[in-house]
Amino acid sequence: MTRVLVTGGAGYIGSQTCKALALAGHQPIALDNLVHGHPWAVRWGPLEVGDIADRAFLDAVIERHRPEAVIHFAAYAYVGESIQEPGRYYRNNVAGTLSLLEALRDHGVRHIIFSSTCATYGIPDRTPITEEHPQRPINPYGASKLMVERMLADFETAHDLRWIALRYFNAAGADPDGEIGESHDPETHLIPLAMQAVRGMGPVLKVFGNDYPTPDGSCIRDYIHVSDLADAHLKSLDYLRHDGASGAFNLGTGQGASVFEVLERIRQVTGRPVPIELAERRPGDPPMLYADAEKARRTLGWTPRYPDLSETIEHAWRWLESNGYTEQ
Ligand code: UDP
Repeated sequence: MTRVLVTGGAGYIGSQTCKALALAGHQPIALDNLVHGHPWAVRWGPLEVGDIADRAFLDAVIERHRPEAVIHFAAYAYVGESIQEPGRYYRNNVAGTLSLLEALRDHGVRHIIFSSTCATYGIPDRTPITEEHPQRPINPYGASKLMVERMLADFETAHDLRWIALRYFNAAGADPDGEIGESHDPETHLIPLAMQAVRGMGPVLKVFGNDYPTPDGSCIRDYIHVSDLADAHLKSLDYLRHDGASGAFNLGTGQGASVFEVLERIRQVTGRPVPIELAERRPGDPPMLYADAEKARRTLGWTPRYPDLSETIEHAWRWLESNGYTEQ
């Protein structure tokens, strides 16, 4: 059993990872400032409410729980907002993480798994994207995550901190058992917005661009099930505990799906067409992003259990139907 501090443990992927940790016999301790996280999503261990930028709070939490490793999700993650308010993103995602890393250094916590993103690649030169692809983020959100990757490498050199950066592609779906799922406010992601439109809970779905250089003109993304993301954190923890070398790993299915393909799958799953209107391209959307996740398979032994997008959508739909995307 490993005691693991999970920053952002009340969030979408963090809470799913707390569940996976607990099921594997570990002890998750969620730390969350509840700006975007939900207390109802923390069910598998204690919740410490506070901010990673608050060093005295971090010291107290680390002294109380003596974690052996940290999984670090706590961050802001709205690309559009990061362009409007870069200071907010650099302060929270970069300065907040620096405060965390210094606390880990001072308390002798040696292992950290970090939520990074395919947004660190920017507009790719080629797909599928491997970890060696140049990282040229095109928005402050992606830049903030890349800065943290650099800080991790420097903290390893100076302080022997061992790290894994997991570069997620598009997180999607919900807990297959229906216990937890996505609940963002505001919601900006394609699958939940399309489902809200199907249920008449939200406006008609705007399709951002149908003139991209892709087969049907809409953007292609790699939608990876949130449970598979959680599982990758578990595998990373095992890997670090067995002296695996620090490094970055892409997490995706390796399959791209266009916006129109996603909408068609949603129609098949829900039995109802998604009401849409065509809209302008959203600034900063690359036409095509999908992962080469071979390194994670080879090195961490990770393969997605839910590679079928229809099943991912089914889980998301079940969660929406039973929870209505409202606060519980
Ligand atoms: N998208 C869309 N309408 C929406 C939200 C998203 O057409 O209301 C498109 C978006 O342009 C992108 C894809 O769906 O190509 C996935 O967007 P999302 O915001 O879910 O994730 P991102 O790829 O930006 O991380």
